[in-house]
Amino acid sequence: MKIAILPGDGIGPEIVGQAVRVLKALDETFEMESADVGGAGYAAHGHPLPEATLKLAKEADAILFGAVGDFQYDNLERHLRPEQAILGLRSNLGLFANLRPAILYPQLAGASTLKFDIVSGLNLMIVRELTGDIYFGQPRGIRTAPDGAFKGEREGFDTMRYAETEVRRIAHVAFQTAMKREKCLTSVDKANVLETSQFWREIVIDVHKEYPEVSLDHMYVDNAAMQLVRAPKKFDVVVTGNMFGDILSDAAAMLTGSIGMLPSASLDANNKGLYEPSHGSAPDIAGKGIANPLATILSAAMMLRYSLNRAEQAARVEAAVQSVLEQGIRTADIHEPGLKLVSTSEMGDAVVAAL
Ligand code: NAD
Repeated sequence: MKIAILPGDGIGPEIVGQAVRVLKALDETFEMESADVGGAGYAAHGHPLPEATLKLAKEADAILFGAVGDFQYDNLERHLRPEQAILGLRSNLGLFANLRPAILYPQLAGASTLKFDIVSGLNLMIVRELTGDIYFGQPRGIRTAPDGAFKGEREGFDTMRYAETEVRRIAHVAFQTAMKREKCLTSVDKANVLETSQFWREIVIDVHKEYPEVSLDHMYVDNAAMQLVRAPKKFDVVVTGNMFGDILSDAAAMLTGSIGMLPSASLDANNKGLYEPSHGSAPDIAGKGIANPLATILSAAMMLRYSLNRAEQAARVEAAVQSVLEQGIRTADIHEPGLKLVSTSEMGDAVVAAL
């Protein structure tokens, strides 16, 4: 098994370092190779996604990614900015399915802004389509309006579109994910207004015929936003398009109250994936040794489950994280009075010890 290690910028190297220790503790035979990405790629090679990094990512069985971005790169031209590395990896590797679990560990229920009984025990999964929709649809631009009520004025426009193949393949990922969980899938769209959503719904209903064990329901995105904060435990797996998923997955993440705890996976059609924490590079705390590495460690657990087919080892890592939380060990972002405050590397020590 070859794993590409792409630490990136800010806290990326610190948190990825701890996840690598956990993987090594599980299996010394993992072949791991590191490469620069994001701002670090630009600084060393003049591009956020250097050719050698892309080659390594293509060759590997899975990719463990830290985070990219730093204020010092904010004024670069768009195509050289660190965030372009993620878009480049997604499109070059065909990573069209984004899996973001929102799990509220009982030990951290106090971190949520919602009432304890609404969120305690929350465990939902958002499956977001990642490479299509209005974010990529053509035509798009800013122009002088050629017609309509505001003809002659400047206008901005984008195009929402989904091809049948795109909807089918994300629907399959979602139904298969549901099969591994509680077998309930909610497809979120805006079919009361958008043609693209009507088409989306039609295809999801058709794919459902291949998964009769999964119960499927449909929800408009505005209602889904309300239900996520009203009764989030009613959801098991949610599948939705790129833009709705972008927004809902952040809302779902915040139900847990702790961004340092949330892993994510982006998969291709063969379950090869890129695994990264849901948070960014946190330049405000980089180099201080206080970042929470658990989201990255839990991303490594997802990698074991989805790309490396090692569900038992994934469960061991997740149990080790639970055990560390039960012992009252906390990094600063999830710390409460009376509990043990630890650094990034001490948190790594604790997870390795629990393993
Ligand atoms: P951020 O997620 O980096 O940070 C938001 C807040 O959460 C900060 O206060 C930070 O200190 C804290 N935080 C984040 N992760 C933490 C952790 N593991 N432990 C403890 N605290 C943590 O978001 P931002 O500040 O909006 O963005 C910073 C940079 O990250 C920007 O350059 C942005 O473009 C980039 N970014 C990258 C990704 C990615 O690589 N996938 C995602 C989002 C943002």
